[in-house]
Amino acid sequence: MAPTKDAEPPLHILFFPFLLPGHLIPMADMAALFAARGVRCTVLTTPVQASTIRSVVDRANGSSAAGTPMSISVVPFPDVGLPMAAQSGRDLATSRDYHDRFLQTVELLREPFCRFLSDHHADIDAVVSDSLFHWSAHATAEHGLPRIAFLATSMFARACTDTVLRSNVFESCSDDHGAVVSLPGLPHRVEQRRSQMMDPAKRPHEWAMFQLIHAADRSSYGELFNSFRVLEPGYAEHYRATQLRRRAWLVGPVALASGSLEDVASRGAVAGALSPDAAVCLRWLDAKLASSVVYVSFGTMTNFSPEQMRELARGLDLSGKNFVWVIAKGSTAASSDPSTPDGFPTANRGYIVRGWAPQVLILNHPAVGGFVTHCGWNSTLEAVSAGVPMVTWPRYADQFYNEKLVVEVLGVGVGVGAEDYASCLETHRVIAGEAIAESIRRVMGEEGDGAAMRKKAKELGVMPRGAVEKGGSSYDDVGQLMEELIARRSSVGCTADG
Ligand code: UDP
Repeated sequence: MAPTKDAEPPLHILFFPFLLPGHLIPMADMAALFAARGVRCTVLTTPVQASTIRSVVDRANGSSAAGTPMSISVVPFPDVGLPMAAQSGRDLATSRDYHDRFLQTVELLREPFCRFLSDHHADIDAVVSDSLFHWSAHATAEHGLPRIAFLATSMFARACTDTVLRSNVFESCSDDHGAVVSLPGLPHRVEQRRSQMMDPAKRPHEWAMFQLIHAADRSSYGELFNSFRVLEPGYAEHYRATQLRRRAWLVGPVALASGSLEDVASRGAVAGALSPDAAVCLRWLDAKLASSVVYVSFGTMTNFSPEQMRELARGLDLSGKNFVWVIAKGSTAASSDPSTPDGFPTANRGYIVRGWAPQVLILNHPAVGGFVTHCGWNSTLEAVSAGVPMVTWPRYADQFYNEKLVVEVLGVGVGVGAEDYASCLETHRVIAGEAIAESIRRVMGEEGDGAAMRKKAKELGVMPRGAVEKGGSSYDDVGQLMEELIARRSSVGCTADG
């Protein structure tokens, strides 16, 4: 229960998630986490997104002794000419047109958000807004409400990006492909290839957008992270005290607090339920030896060229390992069918999932011993929580920083050799099958650093649950934020009364 006085209503937090699954799902989980602690939580979102997270809300309300602490307030999807089927955002990587239209929603949701705040601000204690809605900082300030930002990434990546945006790191660096940039002032020595970074010389619009996002977040009350302290050693202190002097709460992994693995895996699936194919895939895994299968999936927004698909298929073949490979339905990649190249060994060693895979269940299956991932933060956190080492294959956004955390700071992964930062619609350098196979064998092998990496991954894998349980660091951070908001409510009330 919320530690409010009997006569006081519970805290009420408005959650305003961005519409893409990688942002929406963790914010819904986060709301469920606060609801479980007695906070009234309203999620403001659009119809398709509401149906994606309905099961999270139903579960939160079903397990609460305090009535219905979690609700969804639905606003229409902005009219950008996107068909209903494309409104989930999972086709973004397939077409420039879809991609650009979808991003227009960032601006067009301003009006319904402001209207909601005008109507309900007196009843709200705080707004948790996706950082991409940078304009929500101004709108919440206008109503005297604290805005808490959430960008669905690691604290490590956020701290790196912050350093890059605020320091002139590119000034003294050549623009050769191999040029290396040093990021000063971080708890770890971080050096990154320029080609792996959002470079203002090549991406002025993206750079300007992130300047806006960071300025809004810096002016906000604080930031929430779907992470936990032990995972990002030194970064909570870096954020709160040493360098940035910002309020930050690490409350994750948020998914762990919101139900069984089945419940977690079904978030994002059509109608919130796993398809029969999911059960077939899990039965296929049941027949495999422990740690003998590599799971290959690149989240919801990664697109590979047909040539890269062929090399990936060849790499899986050369690795000699069993595999489960997720190929999102509707992606360009899916149209270049990898099961047809001559000799592709799906028959015995491989299982291809087309559509939504039960990722959390797969990663936690004893047969899975490695994960080839694009290092989206949700996937990274899910692998960490399952104790599975990673082959890292970042493409853009925060993914190269997450790779650094996994490979260099935590020592639970091997890089496949991705060098170029390029969005889901741009061309990447093709990674050869031999390099893919070599990385998989390293992570899954019994010899060399593979065994040590797996041991570390297993050790790390037991920590997330401790963090979210009563007395854990993430549990405490949730309580800490609630206390601060209650104290703020009292002080604002006193000021108003006085
Ligand atoms: N996911 C899933 N099944 C799929 C594809 C994705 O369950 O077939 C989930 C995955 O478990 C993760 C999220 O979707 O929770 C993807 O988020 P991430 O940050 O890893 O990548 P993004 O899609 O945002 O690039």
